[in-house]
Amino acid sequence: MSPSSNLMDLEELTWNAKQIQEDVLEEILTLNANTEYLHRFLKGSSDKELSKKNVPVVTYEDVKPYIERVANGEPSDVISGGPITKFLRSTGTSGGKQKIFPVNDKYTEKLGYVIALQSHALSKHFDSGGEQGKAMEFHCTKRPSESPSGLPITAVFSSFFMSDYFKNRPSKCSSQYTSPDQVILCPDYKQSMYCHFLCGLVQRDKVVSVGATFAFVLVRAIDFLKNYWKELCSNIRSGNVSEWITDLDCRTAVSNILGGANTILADLIEQECNNKSWEGIITRLWTKARYIECIITGQMSQYIPILDFYSNKLPLVSTTYGSSESTFGMNVDPLCKPQDVSYTFAPNISYFEFLPVDHEGDMASIVDLVDVKLGCYYEPVVTNYFGLHRYLIGDILQVTGFYNSTPQFRFVHRKNVVLSVRSETTTEEELLKASANATVVLESSNLMLVGFTCYADISTFPGHYVFYWELKAKGVNNVFEIDKNVMVKCCSALEESFGEVYKKNRSEDGAIGALEIRVVQQGTFDSLMEYFVSLGGSIAQYKTPLCINSSSEALAVLENKVLTRFYSERPPPLDS
Ligand code: AMP
Repeated sequence: MSPSSNLMDLEELTWNAKQIQEDVLEEILTLNANTEYLHRFLKGSSDKELSKKNVPVVTYEDVKPYIERVANGEPSDVISGGPITKFLRSTGTSGGKQKIFPVNDKYTEKLGYVIALQSHALSKHFDSGGEQGKAMEFHCTKRPSESPSGLPITAVFSSFFMSDYFKNRPSKCSSQYTSPDQVILCPDYKQSMYCHFLCGLVQRDKVVSVGATFAFVLVRAIDFLKNYWKELCSNIRSGNVSEWITDLDCRTAVSNILGGANTILADLIEQECNNKSWEGIITRLWTKARYIECIITGQMSQYIPILDFYSNKLPLVSTTYGSSESTFGMNVDPLCKPQDVSYTFAPNISYFEFLPVDHEGDMASIVDLVDVKLGCYYEPVVTNYFGLHRYLIGDILQVTGFYNSTPQFRFVHRKNVVLSVRSETTTEEELLKASANATVVLESSNLMLVGFTCYADISTFPGHYVFYWELKAKGVNNVFEIDKNVMVKCCSALEESFGEVYKKNRSEDGAIGALEIRVVQQGTFDSLMEYFVSLGGSIAQYKTPLCINSSSEALAVLENKVLTRFYSERPPPLDS
């Protein structure tokens, strides 16, 4: 597989998915046949049929002892036929606990390849008309930690941006960024973010897209701008970078881009940022921006309204779907609405199987990538090059169509992330839908929801759902008054969105108490993120957990910041 790619690759890949998947499996089995892990099941054979019969479908707990042995210094071939040179740390905010996965540079190459394919699909829709525009993207990296054996442990995107693959990337392979690599590689998040803005503002006429890996990072970036625009303007006015930018590589690279003093630009930015409302701030500052690029599906969909607000509803392009275990695929229809996004699996990345959600313990119902059925729901099962065999990813996907002969999937929700007080099981998808409905009610009040999470409080009887909401005024001075009537209506809108079992429990049996919204201080969701990042995650990969049932520490972060509480006043009507 060459590190560069073009649209022909996409056609070839997606027409030949079946054969490519067969080849990938053969290659992986041949590579790993003599690892201690696989030898247990195949006795050195690399026969594909035998592997499907003998190799069990597993979760992290099953492979963790093998991974930990390699992390502790035993040879790679305990689990992987290829060399293990680093570990990827999953955020753990989606599945609960943090996990580490063994990989080598091949992982980075494959991720780069999918990003390049995505970038080509995008350029088809946003032809620059010959003029090379730039992407202002808020990427950052964090210094790796080390396994006991001295191998680096990083988050996926940190690993990607710190790799030789990224450093030597073919220029056509990925968009040109407004920020030099030194800004992305600066290990101090605040300095990196500040410099991203400085570079992006100075080159505002060239910016054709604004983005981050996940929507959350972009929303957080705009918040950062709210706090730092005056200082940024002053730097542009004087032509000098603030003293507190002490990372030398970063400082030098940014000073070069800043050039000399630019009073006209500073005035212009000041005028826009001084505006009472920050509605459309992205399009006002970067007038040539034509789309926003970030992952906006799943847990990130809660940020669609606020990004629409900041960007005057520029197209939101949700790019790739992946995890620390494997990259999965890309969105080949980048201009579709966020709620219609599907990801086309890239058949040359890993070997993909799919377990129907209604398998009822029958593992034989597992199917190959090309055999999934339209409209059906599955959990992906991954066999990768680095030692994971038939590994359950924990996401639920629905087949929405086919691109050539390759299936496309909608991300439905993370498995097992549900709220339940009694017999009801409220899924992540329902939580997101409920939040979208309540946001519509909130619209009438000039307030915006900037973050939410929830848990099932069963410490009292009857138990009830508690939502933590961080609110922001639409005006820039951020003075807001909370209207009790609106908040009570929001509580009702949330309840009305849940399923019939919830409603029955709530109204007929009184087995679920009134839903509660706890409004928290501004910045609370930043504190929550800092808490999770302090456990070893990375900001760039962080996803606000929709539900924090299992973390008493995370709950404590939120509880300390509660300003006020509202409850629904009556049970929701039953569905007719
Ligand atoms: P991590 O291992 O920390 O990178 O997290 C991977 C998980 O993030 C996936 O299993 C998904 O649950 C979620 N995720 C990644 N990409 C997307 C996407 N495009 N849409 C929705 N969820 C995603």
